[in-house]
Amino acid sequence: MTDTEEPGPTVPPVFGMRTQWCGALRPAHVGDKVALCGWVARRREHGEHLAFMDLRDREGLVQCVIDGSVDVRSEWVVRVTGTVRRRPEGTENPGLPTGEVEVGDCQVEVLSRAEPPPFPVDERVETDETTRLRYRYVDLRRDRMQRNLRARAVANSAIRRSMEQQGFVEIETPMLIASTPEGARDFVVPSRLHLGRFYALPQSPQLFKQLCMVGGLDRYYQIARCLRDEDLRADRQFEFMQLDLEASFVGQEDVIEVTSAAVRAVAEALAPERLPADAAAGFPRMTWVEAMERYGSDKPDVRFGMELVELTGTFAETGFNAFRDRCVKGIRVPAGASMTRKQLDQLTDQAKQWGAAGLVWMRVGPEGLDSPVAKFLSEQELAALRAALEAEPGDLLLLVAGDRGTVRHVLGLLRLELGRPAVGQGDLHFLWVVEFPLFEALDEVGRPVPAHHPFTMPHPDDLHLLDAERSDPAELLEVRSQAYDLVLNGWELGSGSVRIHRPDLQQTIFRLLGIDEATAQARFGFLLDAFRYGPPPHAGFAAGIDRLVAALLGEESIREVIAFPKTQSGADPLTDAPSGIDPRQLEELGLRVLPPKG
Ligand code: ASP
Repeated sequence: MTDTEEPGPTVPPVFGMRTQWCGALRPAHVGDKVALCGWVARRREHGEHLAFMDLRDREGLVQCVIDGSVDVRSEWVVRVTGTVRRRPEGTENPGLPTGEVEVGDCQVEVLSRAEPPPFPVDERVETDETTRLRYRYVDLRRDRMQRNLRARAVANSAIRRSMEQQGFVEIETPMLIASTPEGARDFVVPSRLHLGRFYALPQSPQLFKQLCMVGGLDRYYQIARCLRDEDLRADRQFEFMQLDLEASFVGQEDVIEVTSAAVRAVAEALAPERLPADAAAGFPRMTWVEAMERYGSDKPDVRFGMELVELTGTFAETGFNAFRDRCVKGIRVPAGASMTRKQLDQLTDQAKQWGAAGLVWMRVGPEGLDSPVAKFLSEQELAALRAALEAEPGDLLLLVAGDRGTVRHVLGLLRLELGRPAVGQGDLHFLWVVEFPLFEALDEVGRPVPAHHPFTMPHPDDLHLLDAERSDPAELLEVRSQAYDLVLNGWELGSGSVRIHRPDLQQTIFRLLGIDEATAQARFGFLLDAFRYGPPPHAGFAAGIDRLVAALLGEESIREVIAFPKTQSGADPLTDAPSGIDPRQLEELGLRVLPPKG
């Protein structure tokens, strides 16, 4: 190589049966004798005396030229020795990083034969997901999966580096445990040595990380596998990975800072061009109430407008019954007036399915509002409505009335339905949502349902509400907590909280939740015991790594960043899990399987 020539890309060192990576060859290597290993991506015969073969390895493709014919097929595994040379003028391929060169005088040694692949590895061919997962080992050869899994490794290492720099210690916690309090269904494992008893797989390391704090470890983190038996979606798998962290003698602000630094390190490594310039100064905050009022969601996608506008006051005295004495909010869909009647009927049905009593639509024309309900509203009301929503001709206005929770929920979903950009579009809008309510609802007997696990510390300014003699239990829903979520472009990346470390407060919360002493002892006895021996104040967080990586890579489904995911129905078409087990094994575990119900 001469000084003036461009060196090849930075690639990992080679060893073993190869002397170079296929994808790394550049004009700088012209004249080098090389040995390459990989899969046959394509083969073309040029008459009897010349064959071209594209050879693929982890780093990319290179063209190999063979004098004479060669018996290889797609996806056979070969070792090729030859000499790097410039491609003849006019035959370069600018679309390929190795496109200026080829390997000539090739000798081909077949290492493995392959049946024709179930689908072409070539990225341009769309293949349905079940087939991709059934033959995941073939799918993994594709550029997309290679890129995504390597990005994931970069994310993990950026996380580790950041956490270590911040003084956190990586500590592993067990997989076979007692149940954890995240509120999902547990996966359970029967015990052979203790017949009739079961381990739970961790929904998170929550209780163990709190024990680590009692144990004086002070700053814990782990890239932890969590298992929850919940319905699967594009952004949810039974097993998923979290950056799980906990620290002692800290509060909410400290945890937010530590987590932001780790997440920012990942974003800087994978998608620096999408990180807003001010991200280094910290991610913006929004209270839960503001998020719900403006976006109808606790994970607002702030990449686009269409915010929920308060109209309750506008219609306080209206003669239109559907709007009087109710919460009324609306959104403006820019240029939405072109929607057809049929589309609007579909939207209305959708809104009803989400819980609304109805959906009021108004098309904004140059003359006024075109809407079936316009005749029920006064001129003043219509003018005030237009002004509040800043309506322009060509827009569509959508209004929902009812109880505040339903109005926010339905309009929040309509907003996403009509405006949400693809996850990979636009800048990365990280957002901290703070001051979540401590309780999310009241159950049938009027008891509060916790919004997070029962160890979440209430907001210091709302503590008095917990002790007060209350005539209306609904007041409890006003109590804020020191729980916080991190959101990225409308995806919930994770949550955390300051924990309760004072036994009296913990008792109060258990009492409110209707968890009596025996139940508390049975479920979390070991943690409560530990808290008798000097628990420090502590707080933590957990951020979903699958979602973070998927969002940074612009993948809508986390399955695209997981090497071996399950399908939406929780099955694994590759290994055929879940499967039946041997009767002898059942017997050993003391189990009998009942026939399916119905
Ligand atoms: N354990 C919680 C979760 O997995 C996060 C936390 O509070 O640290 O959602």
